[in-house]
Amino acid sequence: MTTLDPETLRQIEALVPDERFARERPLLVLDVDDVLLHFVGPLLRYFERNGCTLRLETFRLFGNVFEIETGVAVENARVTALLDGFFHLQTDWQTPVEGAAQAVAKIAGKAEVVLLTAMPHRHRDTRRTFLDRIGLSYPLLTTQMAKGPAIRHLRGQSGRAVAFVDDMPHNLASARVSVTDSHLFHLIADNSLRPLLPELPQDTAIAMDWREAGDGIASALRL
Ligand SMILES: [Mg+2]
Repeated sequence: MTTLDPETLRQIEALVPDERFARERPLLVLDVDDVLLHFVGPLLRYFERNGCTLRLETFRLFGNVFEIETGVAVENARVTALLDGFFHLQTDWQTPVEGAAQAVAKIAGKAEVVLLTAMPHRHRDTRRTFLDRIGLSYPLLTTQMAKGPAIRHLRGQSGRAVAFVDDMPHNLASARVSVTDSHLFHLIADNSLRPLLPELPQDTAIAMDWREAGDGIASALRL
């Protein structure tokens, strides 16, 4: 069993539960990049501004970034640094995914909504400020480890219904292992990337946009 990122655990313990419902409501956990905020599109443009291009022949960052001028592959350490720079400046580059704020607002009246983003912890405040500004003021957790253990801890002991939305198959797989009865949804802001994706865990529901995702989540959580 994979372990829970200790910093994510600290963040979960610091969440103040809604007094009216405590932790009895169904739980909806949402990824941020390419679920609530466009990610790959803005990242591509950010790389180009920095003289690099991302050739998405496979669905991975490392090994797919090349210098525009020379065509030489960019080494992993520099890709990490570029990605870090992107997260630092995310507010200037990222935009909300169409329909997300409205769909989530509808669900949030009846379920506990928590955002779980795989991003270096040090960028949490930047993302928090940005999400607040665009009407996504739900609790935000960062993790640098697997997502499944964080979702299991968020659920608590009550056995309440859990839904999880992510664009990365490995995150959905991690949720499936840690919370075996979770309702998994795959949503990716840019559907043209779907053919590049590795296989999704069995019984993952595919949502092509937030209208489909909202309906599917409401039905899975019996809202
Ligand atoms: Mg994502």
